[in-house]
Amino acid sequence: MPATPQTSSATMATAQDMPTYDVTVTDRVVSFIIYCAPLDAGNSMYQSVHPNDSSLYGVTDSASFLTRMPYVVVDADTKKVIFPRVNENGETAAIQSVSSTSVLHDGTRKVHALPGIHIPHDVDRIALHIGNDAFHYNRKFQLFAWTVPDVAHSKVHIYEMRSDLKVRFSSVNNITSPADNSLVQKPGVADEYYGYLDGDLWLNISHEFTDHDITRLCPPETLSRNVLAGALQQTTSAGSIASAGATQTGTSIVASSTEQVHIDWLVALAPLYASGNGSRSMASFTVEITVLNITLIFSARALANAINTSAHTTVQEALRRTSPRSFAAILKAAWRLHINTVSLSSSWRPMLGSRLHKMGLGLDVTRIEDSVEHVTFTIHNSATTDRGQHFPTGAAGQKMARLYQELNGDHEVLGGAVYTPWVNWVEPHDTHMHITVKDE
Ligand SMILES: [Zn+2]
Repeated sequence: MPATPQTSSATMATAQDMPTYDVTVTDRVVSFIIYCAPLDAGNSMYQSVHPNDSSLYGVTDSASFLTRMPYVVVDADTKKVIFPRVNENGETAAIQSVSSTSVLHDGTRKVHALPGIHIPHDVDRIALHIGNDAFHYNRKFQLFAWTVPDVAHSKVHIYEMRSDLKVRFSSVNNITSPADNSLVQKPGVADEYYGYLDGDLWLNISHEFTDHDITRLCPPETLSRNVLAGALQQTTSAGSIASAGATQTGTSIVASSTEQVHIDWLVALAPLYASGNGSRSMASFTVEITVLNITLIFSARALANAINTSAHTTVQEALRRTSPRSFAAILKAAWRLHINTVSLSSSWRPMLGSRLHKMGLGLDVTRIEDSVEHVTFTIHNSATTDRGQHFPTGAAGQKMARLYQELNGDHEVLGGAVYTPWVNWVEPHDTHMHITVKDE
């Protein structure tokens, strides 16, 4: 593996540059190597456990990788960060290099080797914090807390995998299954250790957005939009839209009138975050955001990755790990454009694709509907030649174009990180629009 062992000259430099650290008898270096989960399709271990049953697929479309995922390494006892060294302002390191391997008998895995980490003399045990649990105000769950052996260089292999394949993986690779969240010595290999990062452990790592977080990230606000002349009757009669003075008279409405709604996101999102309590069902479900008169439809299997890579994760636990900013962003944009139904195909998911959904920052939208103007649009290009092109012409395509514009104008949305099957296409966005929100 391409980890970088530190040389003895680096040891001397460290001792001279950092006089507060004792010169150690053994300068201990630890290298972590993370092997990300392979796709279920083509995974012989999946086949042996779930023969011919693709309904239990969880890792689909895009194999897991961790590039740019934040992390820190801490002294597990004092919780002090030991890597990155310079972190007065709570800086995190970011997982960088990526290669791949097929030696683990379950398909191709993407591999990340972290730089060799020098362990200060006074530190006995270390642990990782990764993802949004690495941010200094979170850091709730110590991953793989472990006593560092008194040897010059230890290698730690972390195998990411579905909970239901751990036994099979151990058997095929002639190793024993470690206890949850622990590292054990690799049989027959000096100074090498390993642990399993399964879907249930990902649930513990991933930050659960609390009511306090919702209020902090999405404070109450007043939204405004242009009134559709034809829509006025429906919205006011539904009683769910707080209208401006002009609309309340009901007599002299013009197209340029605006209407406003005051929204307390903690209240508005409450039914969403209350959904799926205790459930591991992969059936479609809907959530009414009453104050905006918008229906969110979660497609069947929208949470399949969270459910099928774990033994215990529930729908509600997965939703609670999705940033309120992502839901607020699509709801605000939809409301402003009079879209009243939005279909979603993915939110937080621990073991598929990039870091964005793993950190709860991504939301995938597959369909929008404006039932007043009778505009329905399925977000799916018709050919690869559509990639990178303008949005389709016609009322529906132009509605989509305006939605894209609204999202890009939202300060909580990460600039340039709304991907569509047309404008700003990147792999694998042929069948949905992906929205990324800021983590802070
Ligand atoms: Zn996405």
